[in-house]
Amino acid sequence: MKKIAVLTSGGDAPGMNAAIRAVVRNGIYNNLEVVGIKKGYDGLINANMEEMNLSSVADIIHRGGTILRTARSEEFRTEEGRKKALNVMKVLGIDGIIVIGGDGSFRGAKELNTMGIPAIGVPGTIDNDLGYTDYTIGFDTSINTVIDAISKIRDTSTSHGRANIIEVMGRDCGDIALHAGLAGGAESIIVPEAEINVDQVCNKLLKGRNRGKLHSIIILAEGAGNAIDMSNQIKERTGIETRATILGYIQRGGSPTAFDRILASKMGAKAVNLLINGAKNRVVGAKGKNIIDMDIDEALNIKNDFDMESYELAKILSI
Ligand code: ADP
Repeated sequence: MKKIAVLTSGGDAPGMNAAIRAVVRNGIYNNLEVVGIKKGYDGLINANMEEMNLSSVADIIHRGGTILRTARSEEFRTEEGRKKALNVMKVLGIDGIIVIGGDGSFRGAKELNTMGIPAIGVPGTIDNDLGYTDYTIGFDTSINTVIDAISKIRDTSTSHGRANIIEVMGRDCGDIALHAGLAGGAESIIVPEAEINVDQVCNKLLKGRNRGKLHSIIILAEGAGNAIDMSNQIKERTGIETRATILGYIQRGGSPTAFDRILASKMGAKAVNLLINGAKNRVVGAKGKNIIDMDIDEALNIKNDFDMESYELAKILSI
């Protein structure tokens, strides 16, 4: 292993830069040449890349987004596209690649392994929707952004005596909603993994009002419904003035938290060590205090395990 490449792909996540920095610095520390591929798999197909040195990753550990940019590449989903990428890697003498992204990006990495290029995945997504790892890079920053928003909405909600529904990201995964809801003291948390009907939400709201509560915060995961529809239904059934806020892309930006920076640094460095040790078709993850690695296929087959215990706790604490 003499020359490795790194790319970020799919949805961006705060902490991706810290992971890139760790890959570049640990690579150079181990006498490797490191190439940064721009715009994900698209850059691999079009040879859009630059040689990285120690300064290329200076002053980025605290920055959101990804200095390598990201993209979704339809061409890479085709065999023809992947052959072009393979050719670029052969011509440039790239011996291994580190892919920072979500499950889609990992499927792409798996294809590279099949074609004979050792590829390692590093989980970068705010959704925390990968079952094999406790945490993905960006998730912690995202939930902190959400609880910051909850605090602000709570202020105005209390002043007006309104109920508020806050829709958060996560695709089909309710982790952002659960963690932000628990930390933000939400009255109700609506996630795709647990059934809850509007009547239950309304009953809780009315109960709170009866004991003099001025504000109500309901967190809705994007995969479990639409905030505007739900606020209309609640208004109709309870008569309580209800406002909907869709937080959107604010959740994907911002300076990464210490947790995400540390996680990304450890994971990026581990990915390099794996390539040096001859590993291929692996993903890096976090289990308890340990940074682990696992076969990509095995990891992609592990269903995301929703933390039902914490969900039940959130319900108890918001009675
Ligand atoms: P994420 O990595 O955040 O889940 P996507 O699902 O959009 O994001 O995947 C990112 C990119 O990974 C896609 O645009 C595509 O180029 C590549 N990719 C996804 N699935 C596959 C696949 N089955 N085979 C090859 N490449 C894939």
